[in-house]
Amino acid sequence: MFELSECTLCGKNVDALNRVELEGTIVEVCDSCVKFGRAVETKLYKPMTKKLQLTKLAENNTELAVDYGTRVKKAREARTLTRAEFAQAINERESVIKRVEGQTMAPDDMLARKIERFLEIRLKEKYKV
Ligand SMILES: [Zn+2]
Repeated sequence: MFELSECTLCGKNVDALNRVELEGTIVEVCDSCVKFGRAVETKLYKPMTKKLQLTKLAENNTELAVDYGTRVKKAREARTLTRAEFAQAINERESVIKRVEGQTMAPDDMLARKIERFLEIRLKEKYKV
């Protein structure tokens, strides 16, 4: 049994995707969408765990939550960490944390991931389609 993967183009869930080059990017599509690009690899079965798949989907389809600063602040305070302690724990400057919490600076992907892992929160949300 293979995990179902979603076609990048039509969104259909299939058990095997094909990797095609489309406008300079490699995308994974279902059999009926192969014709839209240049096939690079076909019939890719992915024995992928559901969890991995969901994470992957989420990463490709996320945006920063509107209240990301509050989420960081609340989670940090819940752990009774000062900004300085938190900054040190994730190897960042205190000023960076201050700006993220005050939402005057959007964390880049790497920083967002570090914060998410450390505080066990999510800063990114799925796009509302
Ligand atoms: Zn498709």
